[in-house]
Amino acid sequence: MTRHENKLLRGSEIAVAIRDEIAAEVQALDNRGVTPRLEVVLAGDDPASKVYVGSKAKTCAALGMESVTHELPASIGQSEILDLVDRLNEDSDVDGILVQLPLPDGVDPHAVLDRIDPAKDVDGFHPTNVGLLQQGRPALVPCTPAGIMEMLHREGIGIRGRRAVVVGRSDIVGKPMAMMLLHEHATVTLCHSRTRDLAAVTREAEILVAAVGQLALIGEDHVSAGAVVVDVGMHRVTDGDTVRRLYGHSPKKMATFEKKGAVLSGDVDFERVAPKASRITPVPGGVGPLTIAMLMANTVRAAKLRRGM
Ligand code: NAP
Repeated sequence: MTRHENKLLRGSEIAVAIRDEIAAEVQALDNRGVTPRLEVVLAGDDPASKVYVGSKAKTCAALGMESVTHELPASIGQSEILDLVDRLNEDSDVDGILVQLPLPDGVDPHAVLDRIDPAKDVDGFHPTNVGLLQQGRPALVPCTPAGIMEMLHREGIGIRGRRAVVVGRSDIVGKPMAMMLLHEHATVTLCHSRTRDLAAVTREAEILVAAVGQLALIGEDHVSAGAVVVDVGMHRVTDGDTVRRLYGHSPKKMATFEKKGAVLSGDVDFERVAPKASRITPVPGGVGPLTIAMLMANTVRAAKLRRGM
């Protein structure tokens, strides 16, 4: 058994279960002549975006869904992207539209995301879906927080009445996460870069979600004994001193670093926080795989809702 094994919230295993359920649903739809179809717009040549889009397409194929990727040059203008979105909105065979961010310089992401038909908005970023989520009404909701909620449910982690603290207020993760926890009756605090004495606030958390984008920001002092800790952050660490500082006591991580010259790490200092936490997500293998599983779930959901199923 590796370190902290019994505490791990293994998003990767939960994602496999979700994907199996989706594959069965896709099969049932196929029997009724429907194949859910996701169209991805990838503009520019951001290498990370290419990797994400590639794995979305692969997952679609593995689950029996169709996917089309529209690769556009970095020089593309906003009006051409809007024209493409219009065409996808009108195409009745298209169930989900995902515009991969970031968009090239000069293209306003709000203008593009606002143009997507809310019924096909599988990222849940359209203001209509954001508003529906806020009101607690059925909506297509952002995949990362939706995946975290699914994980908490499947792991039997109680939410009602508990103190939840979310660090990070992005539209993609932090804000919808706080809203979803609130709808399930947690008492929620949302922190950000101007929060005073962050550690004092996060120590109140029974459920702590870190979506900050700062390597190992959440340390031992930020967490109370018994907290459930969810780490959304994703960082590729290549600096040897940093890796040794974070993982000097983890033979497995050190071996990965020796082999690959890099390790993936999160917003939580895992080695110092895990001994205090009751449950904790690893990086990798925690939140990441859930995000893509929920994208597939949203696409199937959109396919069914659009057909009144
Ligand atoms: P983002 O848009 O950069 O937002 C970061 C948030 O953290 C902001 O609200 C910022 O506050 C806050 N923040 C920054 N420094 C802080 C500090 N020192 N103390 C307290 N709050 C601080 O990031 P994001 O898109 O939400 O992503 C967050 C992380 O999750 C990134 O590492 C990203 O790569 C990762 N991510 C992973 C997945 C996945 O599937 N695993 C999905 C999405 C994102 P202000 O608002 O005041 O600036």
